[in-house]
Amino acid sequence: MITIEQADRLKQLPPYLFAELDRKKAEARSRGVDVIDLGVGDPDLPTPGNIIEELAKAAREPRYHRYPSYTGMNEFRRAVSRWYKKRTGVELQPIQEVVSLIGSKEGIAHIPLAFINPGDVVLVPSPAYPVYAIATMFAGGIPHEMPLVKENNFLPDLDAIPADILDKAKMMFLNYPNNPTAAPATQDFFRAVVGFAEKHNIMVCHDFAYSEMTFDGYVPPSFLETPGAMEVGIEFHSLSKTYNMTGWRIGWAAGNAKIIGGLGRIKSNIDSGIFEAIQVAGIEALEGDQQCLADMREIYTQRRDILVEGLKKLGINVEPPKATFYVWFEVPAGYTSASFAALLLEKSGIVATPGNGFGAPGEGYVRMALTVSKERLSEAVDRMAEIGF
Ligand SMILES: *Cc1c(COP(=O)(O)O)cnc(C)c1O
Repeated sequence: MITIEQADRLKQLPPYLFAELDRKKAEARSRGVDVIDLGVGDPDLPTPGNIIEELAKAAREPRYHRYPSYTGMNEFRRAVSRWYKKRTGVELQPIQEVVSLIGSKEGIAHIPLAFINPGDVVLVPSPAYPVYAIATMFAGGIPHEMPLVKENNFLPDLDAIPADILDKAKMMFLNYPNNPTAAPATQDFFRAVVGFAEKHNIMVCHDFAYSEMTFDGYVPPSFLETPGAMEVGIEFHSLSKTYNMTGWRIGWAAGNAKIIGGLGRIKSNIDSGIFEAIQVAGIEALEGDQQCLADMREIYTQRRDILVEGLKKLGINVEPPKATFYVWFEVPAGYTSASFAALLLEKSGIVATPGNGFGAPGEGYVRMALTVSKERLSEAVDRMAEIGF
């Protein structure tokens, strides 16, 4: 018998705030409740057919069966550069300024290893995708939370960060359009971020996962199109949300060559890249027929309208999101995030994610994902009307 003890980096992980909700969800299902799960941010729609066909063809080619290049096929990185040029006007050197990733989560999780020493501070938004803070801790860094609150349009207040924190801060994570708040960023905000980064010598890592998942013709700005951004930062992106490819594991980081190079060095010592047949299919996603994007936006718009209008009729104060597939709203008076989520599950079989699970400033909110059909969303609205708040 040996003693098997987890490393401090696992022991220091924050408590998993969704554990109680997961338990209640499993319990409701086992009682035979017809659960409507608005908790998960994973598209329910299939990957477009042309992308699947391209994978099927490429999978039969023996030349794609060998170890891929660590930093990505040149052809895939060129397609990413062409996408950037077309979508944002930004010119990228495909070899020095783009690295392919096994999904953007992989790159986000690894980047602190390239630049953060023990004791360095990383500025992370809160509420947020949990990986920013956890990856920081795994590298020995100290996450400093920047609260995202309604009064500041869910943008961090850069002036509120204390001077002693700024002295130790080396990196900052941002994510717009934002998960979980669905908030957009403005070009003015990104300009302020570039100035702030230059002044305090901070690398900016912007997560652009929802750039194409938009409503009403809204076109979110890329951080990289901000003047000076290429000198201070990079942008993470992936095919996961845009092309319903969460299971395929393909993404990239693009931007400042020194930052991209550091991430590439970490990766070449940890993984061996993405199956090349998937990269070939990824080129088809970026450069093939884009009708799938218009279709996806139409479907999510219909879903958004059903949910937002339904919630408004119930007296909930909710803004229709401009982007992402999330609806983020304040729980009715008298509830906390957790008690409202519990009420929804117990009384109506609906799963919503309590906002405080993404960080303390998310308390008082819940997030609902538009990843179920119109019919199921209508059903969810009807069930909520029956309980009344
Ligand atoms: C879904 C999501 C991602 C994408 O992750 P992949 O690893 O590319 O699938 C990244 N950031 C945020 C905020 C997300 O919600």
